[in-house]
Amino acid sequence: MKSGGKMSMTINGEMGEEMKQKFRAFPYKPYTIQIDFMNALYDSLDKGGIAMLESPTGTGKTLSIICSALQWLVDRKQSLNDDSLVDTHPNGTNGKNGDCVGSDEEPDWLRNSFGSKEVESPKKKVKVKKRLGFSSKKREETEIEESFRDLYSQLREIEVDLEHNVIVRGDGERLDDKEFLVDEYESGDEKNGLSKRKGGGVCCGSSSSDDDNEDKGFSDDEEEETDFKIYFCSRTHSQLSQFVKELRKTTFGNELKVACLGSRKNFCINEEVIKLGNSTLINERCLDLQKNKNSQVSKKKNSGVDGRKRQTKASSGCPMLSKRKLQKQFKTEMTEKGPLDIEDLVRLGGNLGTCPYYGSRSMVSAADLVVLPYQSLLSKSSRESLGLSLKNSVVIIDEAHNLADSLISMYDSKVTLSQLELVNSSLEGYFQRFQNLLGPGNRRHIQTLMVLTRAFIQTLCNTDDANFVNSSGSECSLCINEFVFSLNIDNINLVKLLLYIKDSNMIHKVSGYGDKIISLQNDTTSVLSAFRALAGILLSLTNHDSDGRIIISRKKPTESGQQGGYLKYVMLTGEKIFHEIVNEAHAVVLAGGTLQPIEETRVRLFPWLAQDQLHFFSCGHIISPDNILPISVSTGPTGQPFDFSYSCRSTSAMVGELGLLLCNLVTAVPQGIIVFFSSFDYEEYVYDAWKASGILGRITKKKRLFREPRKNTEVELILKEYKESIDANSGAVILAVVGGKISEGINFSDGLGRCIVMVGLPYPSPSDIELMERVKHIDRIGDPKKNSNVTCFNGDAQAGFEVLRSCKHRGKEYYENLCMKAVNQSIGRAIRHINDYAAILLVDTRYTSDSSKKNISHPTNKLPHWIKNRLVSKTSSYGEVHRLLHQFFKFHKSKLI
Ligand code: SF4
Repeated sequence: MKSGGKMSMTINGEMGEEMKQKFRAFPYKPYTIQIDFMNALYDSLDKGGIAMLESPTGTGKTLSIICSALQWLVDRKQSLNDDSLVDTHPNGTNGKNGDCVGSDEEPDWLRNSFGSKEVESPKKKVKVKKRLGFSSKKREETEIEESFRDLYSQLREIEVDLEHNVIVRGDGERLDDKEFLVDEYESGDEKNGLSKRKGGGVCCGSSSSDDDNEDKGFSDDEEEETDFKIYFCSRTHSQLSQFVKELRKTTFGNELKVACLGSRKNFCINEEVIKLGNSTLINERCLDLQKNKNSQVSKKKNSGVDGRKRQTKASSGCPMLSKRKLQKQFKTEMTEKGPLDIEDLVRLGGNLGTCPYYGSRSMVSAADLVVLPYQSLLSKSSRESLGLSLKNSVVIIDEAHNLADSLISMYDSKVTLSQLELVNSSLEGYFQRFQNLLGPGNRRHIQTLMVLTRAFIQTLCNTDDANFVNSSGSECSLCINEFVFSLNIDNINLVKLLLYIKDSNMIHKVSGYGDKIISLQNDTTSVLSAFRALAGILLSLTNHDSDGRIIISRKKPTESGQQGGYLKYVMLTGEKIFHEIVNEAHAVVLAGGTLQPIEETRVRLFPWLAQDQLHFFSCGHIISPDNILPISVSTGPTGQPFDFSYSCRSTSAMVGELGLLLCNLVTAVPQGIIVFFSSFDYEEYVYDAWKASGILGRITKKKRLFREPRKNTEVELILKEYKESIDANSGAVILAVVGGKISEGINFSDGLGRCIVMVGLPYPSPSDIELMERVKHIDRIGDPKKNSNVTCFNGDAQAGFEVLRSCKHRGKEYYENLCMKAVNQSIGRAIRHINDYAAILLVDTRYTSDSSKKNISHPTNKLPHWIKNRLVSKTSSYGEVHRLLHQFFKFHKSKLI
């Protein structure tokens, strides 16, 4: 496989005998591009490292991934069996010499503990690396790195434990105060993260056996762990189900063991728990039930003569986990039935009366293929919680078009003013009640937590505090160090405090007591959730100064739903997070319909890999060029130029002209039309204007008109009605929103989407302070000295425009790419198979101007090749657009006759 550029197609026409042999599981005769794709993937897996493979939607990408990757797995297992293959573990390498210790501007405790947080670099196998052309620079791992690694993983475990440890409450009964008293606590060796709880003796960094058991759930008969596996992850559960359906079409469905993972919300069959509705509550309730069960198991365990663990039937806990026999049967049936998706597993669990969530998890160790959502694989705490080991494995991330942003957002954290106030009142109440009973260690740490909480509250409430920041806006952003120094909390050792929080179990004790008090006052707010949010922010504050920013929002809550003040940590760098995955896995493959611009992804996720060492493959579409008609529409039916830029889009001339365009389209286009707007607010504005002017009536005379609802749960019903209208031959129009559910995950094949209309360029709002921090961060990549001072926003777009103006290149490019990625994602809803056809109208003069100059950042240069090559980038008038549409649909109608 060629690396570092677009790979040319190598095989034409019929699939050769050799290919038939190589990809024997492919159930049909593959198209040329499918063979090319399978070859490219197979070669990438052979070589290891990172690859990006692009194949447009509707080209059978999923089937190609299955037949190539699983073939590679089978071949590799075979070859291991044959000659006990020698170790191959090629990975990317962090070429940068990042032996960075903390700067003088960091608090001492942070510098001591995290000074080397940036220096982690992928382990290297020099021999393999040379073969791959990776950098051969070797860096010694210092003691401090090891120390950082230990501590960092301990802190991540805090997240896991916070998720798993849940309080036991007495369902409204008045509980004994003794229940809430924190065990006496002494801090130990801070540098090594050691601390101990008197009477508990639990070392931080290793979970107790109880903790291990707590989230296990299913009977764990010894399963042989496979040598290596393939992890396939995608964005949504429906995409994962689609993957399993495609897998069943191949022979691999019966040959390999498959585990399909999902959330408790998707899997749970305990009616009492499901009815809680919300994911967090379902997780907490489930774990709560396990804890009840495990506390009983634990008591039995302790009474064991030989001190060994004994499995026992629990009389409490979830009833869906009470029968080992059923659990075994679940696993047997799962293996016998072949690959099952989430719905199948839920059905199977329901029929047997045993938990499908833990049932599917119990299959992971023996599975050759694990199918799971993004979140479960990319977040380290989730991987640890699920017991996933990526060592020597292959990770395939599908729908990877926004991977960098999705990845970093998993590490954001947020606490609201009302949560802080709840924590504060709980701590005060607790301290008042128990201070005479608490030991000095507990007293000190709880008081420290109170100091922090009050400092955060004061920051959010005191808008006149000139010492803090020259706050000219309702939202400000600061680096971590600026933040802690401004609040005078730099002398608080957060690492130590977090270890205390983890070891002492105080969050549960205090929130249990707080909840008790609150429940007596008939308030249902969860104190535990508030504590967890605070702990999340504290954990974020232990990140490296340049890894992210703290957003301070002092907005006032409004009746229209705007939330009140909050502190939010926004992670900006994905490099270190992604590096953990690359470091462990044999190969990481990013797949998607459109992965461009690859350079942005490389710089943000794996900058250590030189541009020419990235395996990149891109193929065209399987459809005939005649099946698409993309046009840049610069003027409307009356000759009014289309300009949907921020300042012009709401003028009556623009909104009216767009309405006339749609009046025209409903007569020229058969069946379904999807119109994409940049936001719900703008769609609503246009809809109301059309209604008032009578344009809406003219449109609905020809086709029914639907609107994408703001609530995702209501989309299905609207789509059902939309489809019924089209099936009834009356045709329909749906007004949708870029970034909404329709643009992200709904397929409008055939008549459902004969024309996609993109209204303007959907640039994200420049008044979004988090976005502007990302823009600034990306602009600074490679130029770390560039100033990253305090940013203040008033809620208008001006501050954002100033940020964009001050950017050199990368930041602006990222902002523009966000827009065009959203366009590509939306227009990719149509054309879903080889015989599908659709028109794509890009409505704005900005899609046409400058196109002749071949400016790399021109919007149309960011369209997928197969669309760009067919784009009618200039028309003399709207009349020409109408003529082209007429011809296009007439041609396809004639083909049906
Ligand atoms: S064990 Fe399974 S069925 Fe029971 S509450 Fe948890 S997820 Fe639901």
